[in-house]
Amino acid sequence: MLQSLNPVSGELIKGYPETSAAEAERIVERADRAFEFWRRTGFGVRAASMRKAADLLEERKELHAALMALEMGKPLAQGRSEIEKCALACRYYADHAESFLAPEPAETGASRSYVAYRPLGVVLAVMPWNFPFWQVFRFAAPALMAGNAGVLKHASNVSGCALAIADVFQDAGFPEGLFGVVLIGSDKIVRVLEQPRVRAVTLTGSSAAGRSIASHAGRLIKKSVLELGGSDPYVVLEDADLDLASEVCAAARLVNAGQSCIAAKRFIVVNPVRDEFVRRFVDRMGRAVMGDPMEEGTQIGPLARRDLRDQLHAQVTESVRRGATLALGGTVPSGPGAFYPPTVLTEVRPGMPAFDEETFGPVAAVVDARDEAEAIQCANDSPFGLGAAVFTRDAARGERIALESFDAGACFVNAQVHSDPRLPFGGVKESGYGRELGAFGIREFVNIKSVFVR
Ligand code: NAP
Repeated sequence: MLQSLNPVSGELIKGYPETSAAEAERIVERADRAFEFWRRTGFGVRAASMRKAADLLEERKELHAALMALEMGKPLAQGRSEIEKCALACRYYADHAESFLAPEPAETGASRSYVAYRPLGVVLAVMPWNFPFWQVFRFAAPALMAGNAGVLKHASNVSGCALAIADVFQDAGFPEGLFGVVLIGSDKIVRVLEQPRVRAVTLTGSSAAGRSIASHAGRLIKKSVLELGGSDPYVVLEDADLDLASEVCAAARLVNAGQSCIAAKRFIVVNPVRDEFVRRFVDRMGRAVMGDPMEEGTQIGPLARRDLRDQLHAQVTESVRRGATLALGGTVPSGPGAFYPPTVLTEVRPGMPAFDEETFGPVAAVVDARDEAEAIQCANDSPFGLGAAVFTRDAARGERIALESFDAGACFVNAQVHSDPRLPFGGVKESGYGRELGAFGIREFVNIKSVFVR
């Protein structure tokens, strides 16, 4: 039985019986049958359903925002924005899929030769709870527009969201079963992946989950895309606008209560502005309103699960034991919920969990650096490479660092790292491989086919 627990109270919202092995097989079969029809439809037909899905998302926005608040603690206002972003992605791919996948002529001496993009078939999507709708739609919108089918294995604590997403696709007029849901624990994913009709897998989640899925995909020789964790560095240079930097850094650390792969996690500040930055940053972090996600005005809800909260607190206490200083927060509130307050650690160094590991909650690690060179070295001294940002009033200097120095997939200057349907998204190193979004995203799950006619 999968359980959705309310992270505010710890109470059971609902239990969901797990999909049996036989039923999971039928779900994949149905998706494959629907694929055989769907692959032959034109982009116009696909786009009409995708636009309808966008409309339904908007119509059901309040319902979906409330579901996320209940199942994983996201404040209502943030849930509404998440749903709007999903609708945006649906319309973006409805508008652009055809041009992204248009055949590309190649000069070869044949009478006709070109590259065509053809769908692969059923793609298994293993997804996390932190953006329960967005993570799924940013996979599904391009994958379905390319002509594929999808089977979703969502995180075990957001089964209600998984079923609500399936309803959107069903009600939008996609073929019966084209987008299926299996309600299973992570121990049963491999047997779904092993089904021959499953042609590829995408996983968004922790590096440990990615490592496991990628090894099975390798054994089975199935295409995989991995969107994994991050420990994004935000570098603050001596010529930064400190008001802007402290505001953006606090917002980037507190997004989704800090539970975002591209939340800012390490703040690497050069010595001349270090004290002033910390003063402003701590002030902004301390002002965030923590509370019930169902109440308007709440900026930070509880973390999604108590075990994750306890894990985060252990990273904080171990970092302090190894020499970090607590400048804000760091105490577990009493009560049944999974709350954790905005926390700032200073004097963080390599060798401490707050530097070496991903902290998935509102915990900021401030790291001191002598100068730009040391700051960049520190920024890249991480197993992760998802996003990075730099703050400087010299835009050319910032761009040079973004382009040449950061070892990460998304590099921003004077701005918060964020995903956007128009830009590819993904990481390097242990943050994974492959890309979602943009034109690159829709080409991950296609057969890049060469056609040669003499
Ligand atoms: P998680 O524990 O790795 O779970 C993610 C998904 O993988 C869930 O569906 C989970 O199923 C499944 N899973 C867990 N262990 C697995 C295993 N050994 N083999 C196969 N599947 C497994 O991650 P999470 O706690 O839900 O999400 C947080 C992580 O996701 C963070 O590290 C975050 O940075 C990362 N993330 C990355 C991106 C990105 O785009 N790069 C975006 C969002 C989140 P169960 O729920 O049943 O365990």
